[in-house]
Amino acid sequence: MSNRVMKPSIRTTAVALAAAGLGASLVAGAGSAFAAEGKAAVANTQTAVAASAAVAKQADVQAKAAAQLAAQVKAAAAKATAQKQAVAKKAVVKKAAAKKAASWVKPVAGYTLTASFNQGGAMWSHKHSGQDFAVPVGTPVKAAGAGTVVKAGPYGGGDGPAYGNAIVVKHANGTYSQYAHLSKIKVHIGQKVSAGQRIALSGNTGNSSGPHLHFEIRTTPNYGSAVNPAAFLRSHGVTI
Ligand SMILES: [Zn+2]
Repeated sequence: MSNRVMKPSIRTTAVALAAAGLGASLVAGAGSAFAAEGKAAVANTQTAVAASAAVAKQADVQAKAAAQLAAQVKAAAAKATAQKQAVAKKAVVKKAAAKKAASWVKPVAGYTLTASFNQGGAMWSHKHSGQDFAVPVGTPVKAAGAGTVVKAGPYGGGDGPAYGNAIVVKHANGTYSQYAHLSKIKVHIGQKVSAGQRIALSGNTGNSSGPHLHFEIRTTPNYGSAVNPAAFLRSHGVTI
């Protein structure tokens, strides 16, 4: 081989190297660009990580808020249930009270018991037919039980002048109650009354030794059918 032959080949190599250098720089440029992009990508990734951390934090906050809300809802539900139960309990109590109100009550309040049933004495030609409650004139007189007024007026409402102003109320199961010596009658025949309803004011009319309510329980509307009113009331849950 001669030197002349080699020269061109050296030149070719240099060109090739130059070309390779160019290529290398191109490659390097491309690498830098990639590296820059890589940094951006990393930055983006970091941003994304930071963002996802923020999202996670927010999600955590939201989860906590949801948990709080759930707890509040649960508490409200428990409260509502408790209130419902309280209302139901109240309804039961109210029902019981209504049942009690529908039964029997004392005909007057603030009394002193005086002459009792079957008691003998100068005041009566026969034994005493009722229970006397000594009360000041004008004391409210209440229906002892629910029923319908069948007698109301002077002369014992038809039973005789000894009773003064009187009322007879018909109840269920063949029971009647009578109220005598009244100063004022506040009901009329045929009127329906409830237990405890004010029907008159007490007085001292008729054959009476002093202000009091004469109270009878009868098995008919009329005089002569009286039973012991204290025992009757007691058997219906009322102690006088
Ligand atoms: Zn009497």
